[in-house]
Amino acid sequence: MDLVDPFGRTIRDLRISVTDRCNFRCTYCMPQEGMKWLPRSEVLSFEEIERLSRIFVERFEVDGLRLTGGEPTVRSHLPVLVHKLSGLRVPVSSRSPMAGKAPDLSVTTNGATFRLVAEELRINGLQRVNISLDTLKRDRFLQMTRRDELFRVLDGIEAAKEAGFSPVKINAVIERGVNDDEILDLACFGRDRGVEVRFIEFMPLDASGEWGRHKVVPQDEIVANIAAVFPLELVPARGAAPADRWRYVDGAGIIGVIPTVSHPFCGDCDRVRITADGQFRTCLFATTEFDLRALLRDGSDDDVIAAEIQRAVGLKWAGHQINQVNFIRPARSMSQIGG
Ligand code: SF4
Repeated sequence: MDLVDPFGRTIRDLRISVTDRCNFRCTYCMPQEGMKWLPRSEVLSFEEIERLSRIFVERFEVDGLRLTGGEPTVRSHLPVLVHKLSGLRVPVSSRSPMAGKAPDLSVTTNGATFRLVAEELRINGLQRVNISLDTLKRDRFLQMTRRDELFRVLDGIEAAKEAGFSPVKINAVIERGVNDDEILDLACFGRDRGVEVRFIEFMPLDASGEWGRHKVVPQDEIVANIAAVFPLELVPARGAAPADRWRYVDGAGIIGVIPTVSHPFCGDCDRVRITADGQFRTCLFATTEFDLRALLRDGSDDDVIAAEIQRAVGLKWAGHQINQVNFIRPARSMSQIGG
């Protein structure tokens, strides 16, 4: 049975935050001192995550599961969870292209410790990886993440390629006046290393609340910046995927841009999220949540949980309101929601 929202959008993609903790302190995400971490007892166990994922995949034909954080690799034994989730099957009767198969299993990571887990995650069924990299300058990396870990992230990217993940995607958040002078360098990095760089417009999800429209480098400017040196052609039909994509005319690969602010793509949204503490969010910018953890722990059966998921999706809004005067920032910052 498909999970369809009031605007006729079918939910196919579940983002699961497996921890709110992180080994970085990115300035556009959290303060220097970090956040007040969730007590372990409040974080969903692997068994609870598997149970929820089973309901989404086997009842509602969700065919994409993305593991996020905080930083998912700081959750110990992550390959064990990946193994559990790769055992799920999208129903053969589903209209999904993944019918009868395991859901598409991916992770978004900052890459710093990916060398240590890449092979094991791959062996246990992980299919795709996105690694965050906002700068190629060591001092700026330290300034942006408050960690001197650029080389480990670059090594994490190589580890992902060596483990056979393809394409390895790079997520680069561009902030005006911080790293917008590296758009071309990051594009060249992707061309040289054979990875797909996706430029992400800065979003109002920073814990410090300092986001402002003047800090957003819009999609058109990012693309023009690259196309001036490397001609690009648009890849048609983005579908529900968050990124618009362009291929280099000279065949050197593909770039993507996630234009949340300048070209909202909510009309095709197929995504929902579960936070590390089991709260169900039907939008990244949602201001209301549905407590699935309580149902997981109060003896409710899967029918009750499924009904609550349907009720929540039945209330999903048309899209974020960043460009409207009535925009209200979510109470949670990005690290407490998961990408
Ligand atoms: S902002 Fe919300 S509705 Fe829009 S694409 Fe993102 S998750 Fe979907």
